[in-house]
Amino acid sequence: MSLSDRGALVLFSGGQDSTACLAWALDRYTHVETLGFDYGQRHAVELTARIAVRDAIAVAFPGWTPRLGADHSLDIRAFGAIGETALTTDQAIVMTARGLPSTFVPGRNLVFLTYAAALADRLGLSDLVGGMCETDFSGYPDCRRDTLDAQETALRLGLDRDVRIVTPLMRLTKAQTWALAQGLGGEALIEITVRDSHTCYQGAREPLHAWGAGCGACPACELRAKGFDAWMAEGKPGLKP
Ligand code: ZN
Repeated sequence: MSLSDRGALVLFSGGQDSTACLAWALDRYTHVETLGFDYGQRHAVELTARIAVRDAIAVAFPGWTPRLGADHSLDIRAFGAIGETALTTDQAIVMTARGLPSTFVPGRNLVFLTYAAALADRLGLSDLVGGMCETDFSGYPDCRRDTLDAQETALRLGLDRDVRIVTPLMRLTKAQTWALAQGLGGEALIEITVRDSHTCYQGAREPLHAWGAGCGACPACELRAKGFDAWMAEGKPGLKP
């Protein structure tokens, strides 16, 4: 795919997936801005990771630096309060009666994308890039492409403009997301992902494992470690986007 003059707004949490999405967008768009949400996370560490990853990418990839525009943060803590889940309160992470992890905030991506679309409209950006993925399915119905297709239609109608929801990780396994990072930015991007991106639900920044910092026991750490190990076992392939 050639470089797109359509500007991109990347939903950027500072995690592994959104780090891969940011690199993917910088490889493809001439102008990229980032958006994070404060919805009452227990751990400010997630917000700190966003800045660390952006800064590290800007230093390590001078070709991308001119394309990396402003960072935005929106306070949606009123929504977080509705969630009442393990991400936003001190409850333990368990599987609920609906078969969803208690980290699930109902409709979270729908809300994120609606805010993102409003901001993108103001900024003159047409593509919303997010790390939603239905391959390692963890029961999040608003990560499914069917849901996002419907929301894209609603946003196009509701904003009366050409909006796209772009999901480069939708069909990738967690191992393939590491491979995509390798393909986009080589060892330098892997290093940034391991060192600076944050995934752990417990907010732990230590110990530092081969796959990154985290408690090593929560579902997010387990998924990230499992994907990294599988990618290593395959010989650290690079996936060209
Ligand atoms: Zn963890």
